[in-house]
Amino acid sequence: MLMVQVYLFTSKAANRDQMRQLQERLQALGCAASAVQLVDVSEQPYLAERFRVVVTPALVKTQPEPRQVLVGSDLLEQLEYWWPRWQAAENGQTADSTPSLASLEEELTRAKLTIQQLTAQVEFRDQVLELLAHDLRNPLTAVGIALETLELTPDRPDLAPQLLYQARNQVKTLDRLIASLLQVSRNQQNALRINPQAVPLPEVIQLVVQSFQAQLTSRDHRLHLDLPAPCPPVFADPDALRRVLTNLLDNACKYTPPGGQISISTLHSTNLKIQVTVADNGSGIAPADQERIFDPSTRLENRQNQAGYGLGLAVCRQIVQAHYGRIWVESESGRGSTFHFTLPVYRP
Ligand code: ADP
Repeated sequence: MLMVQVYLFTSKAANRDQMRQLQERLQALGCAASAVQLVDVSEQPYLAERFRVVVTPALVKTQPEPRQVLVGSDLLEQLEYWWPRWQAAENGQTADSTPSLASLEEELTRAKLTIQQLTAQVEFRDQVLELLAHDLRNPLTAVGIALETLELTPDRPDLAPQLLYQARNQVKTLDRLIASLLQVSRNQQNALRINPQAVPLPEVIQLVVQSFQAQLTSRDHRLHLDLPAPCPPVFADPDALRRVLTNLLDNACKYTPPGGQISISTLHSTNLKIQVTVADNGSGIAPADQERIFDPSTRLENRQNQAGYGLGLAVCRQIVQAHYGRIWVESESGRGSTFHFTLPVYRP
């Protein structure tokens, strides 16, 4: 009998029916239930890393050797195709040629995946840039109207201060939009290039906090840190992690009035995950917006820009998800916001 050992990688986004069908098919083919291990990537991110699984669902065959990774929406068909070949390889019929064929197939799959990821990044950027370009028009039109009115009403000097004030405000909005535009292009180049490694979380938090010292002092914010020791290292990309923390702390400063309280804490909730929390007692976020703020397109369509362009949190979510983590907010309007995100614990 063919001794097969497979891992089935799944996630919240993966199609549950497909996973069930795969499990049933494996059993029908004679694969022992104990030889099929179902892995939820958010629970066991180190396994995803070990087998270099970057999308789900994925099927990883570890036995018989060589290891092979199958991904894509047609996993069942791929299994039907490969099963007899694994069998043949096990029986020694094509033992010489199969490994190289398998590795070629694996290479091809990786290349396809890379293309998919790059296409998704380009699509995301195109969408964001289109919306940003669209929204640049509004303040520009408003500045134009204010200046034109000024020009056409020389006999109304009383209107001038108000018109100039409006124009100046719109110019500030334009400035913020352009800054966001630059940020998108920078983030899009780097956001998903995750290079995870063992990172000492409290040290990274301290470094980010230090970079905010001037901003915190100028707004008279009190900062409370609760970083219980010992804290195991997280498995993360240090630059990406800094970017998430910087964004959350920046928002906490922006949306908390002077004299307010901001806190950062870590919670080693399970031996697989660490939860980081950034809380403030600022303006808070209405329930209807609490999910939307992470979505670039929704915010861009609906929001007249006040304090930023609403892309920071979208990028934060992208980064956290690339670490198989989760980011969310708990908030009550007028009473502050608490952002949480999770990261995998590094396991050597
Ligand atoms: P930006 O701050 O540039 O608009 P973000 O994506 O960082 O973009 O945030 C999206 C929106 O979420 C903000 O515009 C703001 O309305 C809301 N928000 C984010 N953080 C907070 C916070 N700490 N308190 C209140 N509102 C917040």
